[in-house]
Amino acid sequence: MDFSVRVIRSPRRKKTVEAKLRGRELFVYIPASATKGEEEQWVKLFVRKFEKKLGMGRDDRYLRRKFEAFNRRYFDGRLEVEKIEFSKRMTSRFGGCNPKRRTIRLSERLKHMPEWVLDYVLIHEMAHLLYPNHSKAFWKKVYEYKYAERARGFLICKSMEEDEVEE
Ligand SMILES: [Zn+2]
Repeated sequence: MDFSVRVIRSPRRKKTVEAKLRGRELFVYIPASATKGEEEQWVKLFVRKFEKKLGMGRDDRYLRRKFEAFNRRYFDGRLEVEKIEFSKRMTSRFGGCNPKRRTIRLSERLKHMPEWVLDYVLIHEMAHLLYPNHSKAFWKKVYEYKYAERARGFLICKSMEEDEVEE
């Protein structure tokens, strides 16, 4: 999904700016007095905001890039994964891991959640490649990620259950 941007300058606007997506066009409303630099900043801000809202940029390749980065940072680059992907069917659980087949699946709902929540889930599933359980050692590894506790609380509020580790 993609959208184009149209900037509307209005003399009646004093300070407020806002943006609305209509079809594939993002309308950014700004005061007529705004400078070119301000316009650019607002457009950038709203584009980022709407991309996030629409879950854009978060695809399987994005997961793979994050996997590589977290692998280096938390696992000394020891992990190997065959397949890592978002799953449409996964709606009540936030993720799943099959340590034997080395596959990781993340709920598509995570595309629309804050990045630190998605990161937590990914690290959680990655840790299962080492620990195919929810043992103490597993949690110790997961809690190296500083937002782990916060993200777990967030997911509970969204009624997302813990994942499934397949045998
Ligand atoms: Zn788990």
